[in-house]
Formats: sequence, C-alpha cells, structure tokens
Amino acid sequence: MDAPTTLSFEFFPPKDGAGEERLWHTLAQLTDITPDFLSVTYGAGGSTRDRTLRITSEITARTGIPTVAHLTCVGASGAELESVLTQYKSAGINRVLALRGDPPGGPRDTWVRTSDGFDHADQLVAKAGAMGFDVGVAIFPDGHPASKDRAEDLVTLKRKVDAGATFAISQFFFNVNSWQRLMNDVASAGLNLTLIPGIMPVTNVKQIIRFAELSGTEIPPAIRSRFEAVADDPVAVAQLGVEVATALCHELLEIGVNALHFFTLNSSPATREVVANLGIR
Ligand SMILES: Cc1cc2nc3c(=O)[nH]c(=O)nc-3n(C[C@H](O)[C@H](O)[C@H](O)COP(=O)(O)OP(=O)(O)OC[C@H]3O[C@@H](n4cnc5c(N)ncnc54)[C@H](O)[C@@H]3O)c2cc1C
Repeated sequence: MDAPTTLSFEFFPPKDGAGEERLWHTLAQLTDITPDFLSVTYGAGGSTRDRTLRITSEITARTGIPTVAHLTCVGASGAELESVLTQYKSAGINRVLALRGDPPGGPRDTWVRTSDGFDHADQLVAKAGAMGFDVGVAIFPDGHPASKDRAEDLVTLKRKVDAGATFAISQFFFNVNSWQRLMNDVASAGLNLTLIPGIMPVTNVKQIIRFAELSGTEIPPAIRSRFEAVADDPVAVAQLGVEVATALCHELLEIGVNALHFFTLNSSPATREVVANLGIR
C-alpha cells in the first residue's frame, strides 16, 4: 500500500490579541485532521521577533505536534540567530526552515548583510545543523524572484544541501509543470532532499496577485481570469480557490507527490475543504 500523504499547515504569528484568538481557533479546527507537522513563519525585528518566538513556542506546547520554526537572517548577527535557535530548542522544537529573508525593499531589492550576520541561507543551514536541528530550506517552482535562471537556483539549492538541509518547502505555485520541472532538476542534480509543495487556496484576489508579484509566482492566465471574474464576490472566490487548489493537489498526487503543505493564512475553512476533497484524512 502507498504511504499516506504527509500533511502540514503553515501559520503566521498575529500582530494583536484578536489575531491570536483567531489563530488558536484555527489551530483547533485544523489539528483534528492530524497534520504531520505545523510550521510558523518568522518576523525579524525587536517586538515582532519576541512575539514570533512566544507564539511559535506556544503552538508547540498547545498542540504537541512537531513544529518547524522558520528563521531568517534579517537584521541579526550570528550570535543573535544562535540565541533564537537555543530558545527554540528549549521549547522542544527540533526542525527549522532556514531562510535568508527579504531586504526591506522586497525580494528583488539589494541584500545588505547585518554586521556579523549572514549573507545567505546556506550559512544559516550550517549553523542550525551544527546545533542539532533538522534543517529545511525554501524552494521556488517558478524561480526565486531575484535569480537569473533555474540553473542559478539549483546551484543555490545544492549549496544548502551540501550545508546539511534535508527537506525543502516550496513557494506557492499554480502550475503542476513548474513542480515537475523542479523535481526533475533536483533529481538530475542528484540532490538528496525531501521536496514539499506549498499550496495556497486563494481566498482574496487582490492579495494573491500582490503575493504572486512579490514572490515571482506565475498565475496562469486562464486561472487569473477566472478569479478576476468573481473578485468582488468573496464566497465565489473562496469556492474557486478550493476548486483550483484541489485540482492542483490531485495533479501532484498523480505524479507521485506524497506531501502537501498548506499556507493557511491563519484561517481553516479552505484548507479543511481541500483536504476533505482529496480524501487523504
Ligand atoms: C516556504 C517558504 C517560507 C518562507 N518563510 C518566510 C518567513 O517565515 N519569513 C520571511 O521573512 N521570509 C520567508 N520566506 C521568504 C524568503 O525569505 C525569501 O524568498 C528570500 O528572498 C529568499 O530566501 P532564501 O532562503 O531562498 O535565500 P537564499 O537561499 O540566501 O537566496 C537568496 C538569493 O541569494 C542567492 N544566493 C544564495 N546563496 C548564495 C551564495 N552562497 N552566493 C551567492 N548568491 C547566493 C540566491 O540565488 C538568491 O538569489 C519564505 C519563503 C518560502 C518559499
């Protein structure tokens, strides 16, 4: 029998109390479909960083589900990154997603290293690996927004594998061919890496267009025009979002993918519906 599909859900640390209440509610709704792990994004900078640390640790404590803590090199020295990793360790977190993070002007802006900090994610991979973490990295089925071509992305990815990365979670994408191409690239480069596709069930058209522009994700014209036609009707957008995400997941499962990572945006209904449609829990 085929191994069951690995399921994981991503959350972000909310900015205020109301957002936090919503997060705990969403978590309760999603943990009863037994995800294999949860992941929590990382916001750098003073109070944001402290809140991220507190909420990530609390998610692990409340759910008892293995948590992947994201971590970026933004605005931090190597010693500060080590201190965050130590706090994650004490909270029982053993897996991290090691990222460079984006410059203040966005992913295409020039990266400026913090004094005594890191230039690239591969250095953070090595650091976290040396501290005993299982380390994952980001991958980009439609290409990293600042990279020249797929060959450059693959060289970057190989550096991270050589530094100790064992798994990779992808940026969201809409075209199964982008995923297939990435799988082929990784296989032909002989990289030993678990690849986990990131799935975004669309719930807001303006937001997804902005996210896609920022992250370099291609929205196929046929999909974009269907969303734009219903953009002012939130119920229709959510229904179409579930339909499109379900179709992509079916295509992925058909080509042998056995892990799905959902960007929940701290809301449960869309992810629950897609998982129910797939019949994998
Ligand atoms: C699944 C996922 C989760 C994410 N979570 C977060 C989050 O929680 N918080 C957040 O702020 N951001 C997050 N991001 C966004 C991420 O930080 C940005 O995409 C960032 O622009 C790149 O990060 P990276 O880890 O890919 O960087 P890197 O791998 O360092 O790559 C950045 C650029 O530098 C180049 N490069 C890399 N290594 C080298 C090298 N050794 N020498 C020369 N050039 C090199 C690459 O080709 C690329 O152009 C996430 C992205 C994904 C896909």
